[in-house]
Amino acid sequence: MTDATSGAPAGVVLDWRHARTGPPAPCVFGDGLTICRSPARDVPCHKGCAENWITTHAANAADRARLIRRYTPGRGGVR
Ligand SMILES: [Zn+2]
Repeated sequence: MTDATSGAPAGVVLDWRHARTGPPAPCVFGDGLTICRSPARDVPCHKGCAENWITTHAANAADRARLIRRYTPGRGGVR
């Protein structure tokens, strides 16, 4: 498996198929309304915003993996 784009870190992609949703509310990142709720904090948050946040804030690969787990809702829902 080769990666032609090596050099730039690949963006995080979260699985929010089991994420909670609700009425449109302002995203915590302040970029508009969203129906998605952050699995980790239960606050309004775009999936793309959470992905960008992890991509830019993860200190290393292990930290990134930990954040992805934390921000991925489990089957049946995690509180
Ligand atoms: Zn957002």
